Amino acid sequence: MEKKIFNNTKGAFSLKSDQELEDSIFVFKMMSRPWMVSIGTWLTKTAFQLHLPVKGLVKKTIFKQFCGGETREECIPVMQRMMTSKVHTVFDYASEIREKGEAAFDKDLQNQLEIAAFAKDRKEIPFLAIKPTNLGAFSVWAKISSGEKVTAEEQQLWGNIKRRFETMAQRVSELGLRLQVDAEESWTQKAVDDLVEELMKKYNQERAVIYNTVQCYRWDRLQYVKDLHLRAKEQGFKVGLKMVRGAYMEKENARAQKMNYPTPICEDKEATDVNYNAVLHYCIKHLDDFAIYIGTHNEVSAYLAMQLMDQSQIARNDDRVWFSQLFGMSDHITFNLALNGFNAAKYMPFGKVEEVIPYLIRRAEENTSVKGQTGRELALLLEEKSRRKGVFAKRVN
Ligand SMILES: Cc1cc2nc3c(=O)[nH]c(=O)nc-3n(C[C@H](O)[C@H](O)[C@H](O)COP(=O)(O)OP(=O)(O)OC[C@H]3O[C@@H](n4cnc5c(N)ncnc54)[C@H](O)[C@@H]3O)c2cc1C
Repeated sequence: MEKKIFNNTKGAFSLKSDQELEDSIFVFKMMSRPWMVSIGTWLTKTAFQLHLPVKGLVKKTIFKQFCGGETREECIPVMQRMMTSKVHTVFDYASEIREKGEAAFDKDLQNQLEIAAFAKDRKEIPFLAIKPTNLGAFSVWAKISSGEKVTAEEQQLWGNIKRRFETMAQRVSELGLRLQVDAEESWTQKAVDDLVEELMKKYNQERAVIYNTVQCYRWDRLQYVKDLHLRAKEQGFKVGLKMVRGAYMEKENARAQKMNYPTPICEDKEATDVNYNAVLHYCIKHLDDFAIYIGTHNEVSAYLAMQLMDQSQIARNDDRVWFSQLFGMSDHITFNLALNGFNAAKYMPFGKVEEVIPYLIRRAEENTSVKGQTGRELALLLEEKSRRKGVFAKRVN
């Protein structure tokens, strides 16, 4: 197994022009300052609320870095360009409005079905991604997950959610695509796990069409994966699993403290890393029953996955193993994986600028210097810039 394939910045940023490299450096430099992110977040939210004309600025900077476009069509050239480097797209309509009327959720289902039709026959898009709250109210997911008695109205709303997911899963299956269901806050997850398992039972008989997401910052997830595996073997379906560490840690800990229950989150970062890698080990060991989608920007986990595949003699392009990073982040992992023959995809959100603001804020917050991501992203971009300068200087001399 080659070491250090991720150090190749030429491969990582081969699609970026010099100007695009500068644009990314600018965005990551801005985000490296926590005060800038705090002020920027506040200003952006306020400006949108007051309908101030900031959309153009947001679109040219942070939106361009982290989203494929505002519409499906706008994303096409971006996807096609990535595909020239064998990097695929996981398409995600990123609107994050969580409570809206039933008619609006039905409209969103239509939108998702249109996205599926759009993705069909596009070799760039092997997967679609959907958030549970794209097709049903957060409050209903939470209520069903709580196990408390539901009212007749809530029962009806829950029936609507199930119907929408069933329609979506069926269409995705018919079109030969795959669907990942994202994970959100833990107090909505039980209902998601149960519903997605039902869909796996129905649609994952031959191959994994439906993928659930495990957030490995939750200490109970390895056991969940093992239990799910047992049920899948008994009932004869494949487990589709997207594995991530988890994006809502502060919120989870704050809620647990406020409501006085043990936090579902691992005790520290190291414990999360151990848990993530344990889930990875388990799934690769039992790959006959799993199809996995390794969503991480962590180089150690990515190298480990490559190593485990190698040891188990799993072909690099085995369709049961995909690696993925978010669009606009960790290109050094995605592009170098693809360059080395692994299945690699960018998770590409799209949607109207004003609707994807919560997603952009999460990216900005995770990329402040406090969380340590920006340092690495910025260093790699700057390294590539100086590499290009060196090449240019050599050519001139
Ligand atoms: C393709 C893709 C899809 C994704 N989909 C989802 C999704 O559906 N749902 C979702 O929640 N997230 C999702 N994420 C985000 C993901 O959960 C992480 O927030 C992000 O990827 C950072 O984790 P990492 O493995 O990349 O890297 P790292 O930088 O190694 O890990 C950072 C993560 O470690 C954990 N962590 C940090 N500090 C501590 C601590 N003190 N104690 C315990 N744990 C800690 C947190 O989860 C934090 O996000 C996705 C990410 C990718 C790449």
